[in-house]
Amino acid sequence: MRRTRFAPSPTGFLHRGHLLSALCVAAAAREFGCKIHLRIEDHDLSRTRKEYVESIREDLVRFGFKFDSESVQSERGKVYEKFFDALKARGLVYRCACSRRELAAENPLNEFGEVVYRGKCFFKKPAADLPASFRLRVPNETIAWEDLRLGKFSETPATQCGDFVLKDRLGLWTYQFAVTVDDFDEGMELVVRGEDLLGSTARQILLSKLLGRKEPPKFLHHNLLYASTGKKLSKRERDRSLRAELESGMSVGTLLGAVCHEAGALAKPESLTLERAVECIKPWLFKTAE
Ligand code: GLU
Repeated sequence: MRRTRFAPSPTGFLHRGHLLSALCVAAAAREFGCKIHLRIEDHDLSRTRKEYVESIREDLVRFGFKFDSESVQSERGKVYEKFFDALKARGLVYRCACSRRELAAENPLNEFGEVVYRGKCFFKKPAADLPASFRLRVPNETIAWEDLRLGKFSETPATQCGDFVLKDRLGLWTYQFAVTVDDFDEGMELVVRGEDLLGSTARQILLSKLLGRKEPPKFLHHNLLYASTGKKLSKRERDRSLRAELESGMSVGTLLGAVCHEAGALAKPESLTLERAVECIKPWLFKTAE
């Protein structure tokens, strides 16, 4: 495996959960000898802010992370168009005028907490003047894959989520589409990310096949850090951003040690260099989950 990536979304400041993710990417890259790509995932332009993009780069530098290459999704519109047009030409994309509210009212959430879209607007084409998103016609196929840490999975996107959105009604590329195109087009052979994204993996593998990718990337999903409330850390907890913690006097080393400790990779909190933090995360990352 030659390339992996760290792919934060600039919809807020980075927090400890991102730091853990970046450490996991660095540890896996070291284990497999991969180059590391930084991808700014600003596909959701309605939530992206320039100051967050800048803060991501600054924070990563402060912690000493180095990247071999970088891309920004908002600069890759032409690449997305090309892949989108190819799917469209094969009849795999259709317009959908259903609103989220309408769908939620008509359908119960499935066990994954998602509405399964079974192709209402595929069968009954919406009027041309209605605002519409574009969905992928998802084939009824079961995807089997093996996570490098969590083992074997098997999922059928057609029943898990149904026909999912590639481009929303504002014309914005969705996460599922942009990330799958990028992982293919940018040659990512290893995807390391938090286990909150486990549910997206099968549909991304399926989409990558439809886009023409022969061999999907390998995936490794790591454990998340949880807030004291039991919820996963989120950007909404502004006060817990890395920059706020540094500004309040915590050092880079203390934060690296704290994250390794909270994750369960370090017995006692202690100050660590980036080099030691990566070494500390490595055995934790590859320990098979119970
Ligand atoms: N941009 C996503 C996030 O910040 C990560 C996407 C991925 O690694 O696939 O949660």
